[in-house]
Amino acid sequence: MYKTPAFRNILLLIFTAVVLVSLSIVLYWKHLDNVLEQREKADIFSAGQTLAKEFNYQIDAELQVLASVGESLEGLPRVEDTKGLMLYLARQKQRNNFEMMGFQFPDGKTYFSDSSAQNDFLSAEAISAAYRDNYYVSRSAAHDDKRIIIVKPVYRNGNKAGVLFAAQLTAFYETALYREPVPGYTQWFIAGADGDIILGRNNAAAGCLKQIPPDNGAARCSLSGRDYFISSVPLEYNNWRLLALQPNPGHRPQKQLTAAVFMCVAIIIVLGVLLLFIILAYRQHSDALYRSAFIYHVTGLGNHNYFESNFARTADAFRKNKIPFALTAVNINRFKAINDIYGFEQGDKILKHAARILKEEVKENELLCHSSADRFLLLLACPDRAEFNARIEKILSRISHFCQDEKLCLEITVNAGMYLVDEDVPFYIMIDRANMALNSIRRDAGQTFAFYNDAYREQIKLISEIESKMNAALADGQFKVFIQPKYDFKTRRIESAEALVRWQDAKKGLIPPDKFIPVFEKNGFVLKLDMFVLEETVKLLARRIKEGRRVVPVGVNFSRLHLEDARFIDAVTEIVDRYNLPHNLIELEITESIAFDSGKTMRGVLDALHARGFTVAMDDFGAGYSSLNILKDLNFDCVKLDKEFLTRGETSERMRHIISGTVEMIKKLGCVIVTEGVETKEQVEFLTAIGCDLAQGYVFSRPLPSADFEHLLDEDVLKTKL
Ligand code: C2E
Ligand code: CA
Ligand code: CA
Repeated sequence: MYKTPAFRNILLLIFTAVVLVSLSIVLYWKHLDNVLEQREKADIFSAGQTLAKEFNYQIDAELQVLASVGESLEGLPRVEDTKGLMLYLARQKQRNNFEMMGFQFPDGKTYFSDSSAQNDFLSAEAISAAYRDNYYVSRSAAHDDKRIIIVKPVYRNGNKAGVLFAAQLTAFYETALYREPVPGYTQWFIAGADGDIILGRNNAAAGCLKQIPPDNGAARCSLSGRDYFISSVPLEYNNWRLLALQPNPGHRPQKQLTAAVFMCVAIIIVLGVLLLFIILAYRQHSDALYRSAFIYHVTGLGNHNYFESNFARTADAFRKNKIPFALTAVNINRFKAINDIYGFEQGDKILKHAARILKEEVKENELLCHSSADRFLLLLACPDRAEFNARIEKILSRISHFCQDEKLCLEITVNAGMYLVDEDVPFYIMIDRANMALNSIRRDAGQTFAFYNDAYREQIKLISEIESKMNAALADGQFKVFIQPKYDFKTRRIESAEALVRWQDAKKGLIPPDKFIPVFEKNGFVLKLDMFVLEETVKLLARRIKEGRRVVPVGVNFSRLHLEDARFIDAVTEIVDRYNLPHNLIELEITESIAFDSGKTMRGVLDALHARGFTVAMDDFGAGYSSLNILKDLNFDCVKLDKEFLTRGETSERMRHIISGTVEMIKKLGCVIVTEGVETKEQVEFLTAIGCDLAQGYVFSRPLPSADFEHLLDEDVLKTKL
């Protein structure tokens, strides 16, 4: 019947958590990747630096060797001794591990350590650079000559004596410098300023040269689909650079990442389980809250709040599909009386029975609630008026037959008031309209349901008509007091009576009080009218006393509104005293529901009235909110059993026992018992048997115009002789 708070929110929460965690993993991955890349770069750079340093050392050492050989040549007496020179060079070459050595005189004559060597690699620029810088290091100028040439000038007595030079195979450096500073695949090579490769162990990746920044540093480089880290370190000679290169190991963060993902998944699982617990606890809690906020405990149906909060959605769906719909109030009549008579347990069973039937009858797209004790609200589709009426009739008739078991079956009267929603008015106004329709039902005419739209217009018209005329009618004497005798079973005479007002309208004739008293109760005019009826009654009785004719106490009805008025008792006393009428001839009839509403006020009023010698009757006992407790707490002089009470006695033997028991109890409290609405001889017999004191009803006399009543009282005869 109801839905727990949206599961969507929870899913959203979980989704957000997953997104956040995934995002964190991605960010962590990026960070890790970055950190590792920096590390890779740092590694390759330091490898490059080491290699560069070693290469610089190597060249430095070779230049030093040349320098010391050159110095020893300076000291030799016969440099021109070419044979000796060549022998010397050959020895030095061997000792110092050069591939070749040579000496060139300023006149261009050149001598080598090996007789087969040719001077095709030493350019004029190399020689002048050597004199200028005091050394020269270069690649061999000869085509396809994979050698490095180092040159050192030699002086004799301060004059240029020639240049000493040595050649070394590039492979020598490659082997000498070969290292694996970074375990794995470090490659390296030396590039010239113009980007050509001078030497290198593996220069296949020389293409990276174009992508690497020329200064000191490392970078990432991609080459024919492969990814490398490459570092560039400047060398001391000729703007050469040492380039170290290593393929990107790729997916390096995998391990760390796997650990991170594993951790995240573990965290998600732990959090998930925790969340699940929290959600379960929350749902239990919110279910309980929901039940207390939206469920009517007796029937388990949604309550008024539930109905109100789902109303707009249901109504909108009807509107969208262009289906007319009706707000329907279903009421179990006299439910309080059912509770009093059969007990709360039985009352609850009846409510559950009604709830079950309503649940069965209400369709998916409609709405139902248990609004208050005996009231249900429904929002029903009403595409066709005739079909709808039949549906309502069926629902009401199903509810009205209640059988607890084979022995106990009850006929409950159930009514429905409908507002066919045709205006966009606030919810509470719709409820008012359905209730108004409910209240307009003429149960006495066998009506069980009514629509607001019909009843309302009629009622509004009537009310405004009544209100526009009431003051003039009172001044004009259009309100007439009728009197109905009360018959005493013991003395078999009229021992009491009740004053009942009627409205004698020129056009409409005699209007019964049911038509206008409720209106006057709403607008307060009943306060004036009751006092008018009291005064008319007092006048009549006072006159009869004066005329020496028989009088009996007369009951006058007083609306509950008087109880709020502090001057009420004084006003009553003032009227009665004005005609010098003994107080005990006036009995105030007050409807019992009033006593229920405000027990304390009622007790005060009763005490004050008693103190002044008036008697007070509790009217309509058994009609609505009857409770024997009220009688226990408030000392009424008389209890008037409602017509309904008698009708119920006719339903079963069991009911009759309950009624006689109730009467017996009331009598024990010292109250006089009057039964209203006695219409048949059988009822008279039953009432006599159970010990009722007085009877008021059509079987003896209807309420009569005062003159007719006086005549009846004078004659002391009744229509029915028992
Ligand atoms: P009530 O005080 O319960 O009055 C008894 C009603 O029962 C009267 O209806 C009377 O005509 C009706 N009655 C009497 N015997 C029988 C019977 O055998 N069978 C049936 N079916 N009905 C019977 P009435 O005069 O139409 O008054 C209706 C209600 O209007 C009264 O109920 C009372 O609540 C109210 N009322 C009447 N006059 C006044 C008044 O002056 N002031 C106030 N405040 N209310 C009044
Ligand atoms: Ca009455
Ligand atoms: Ca009554």
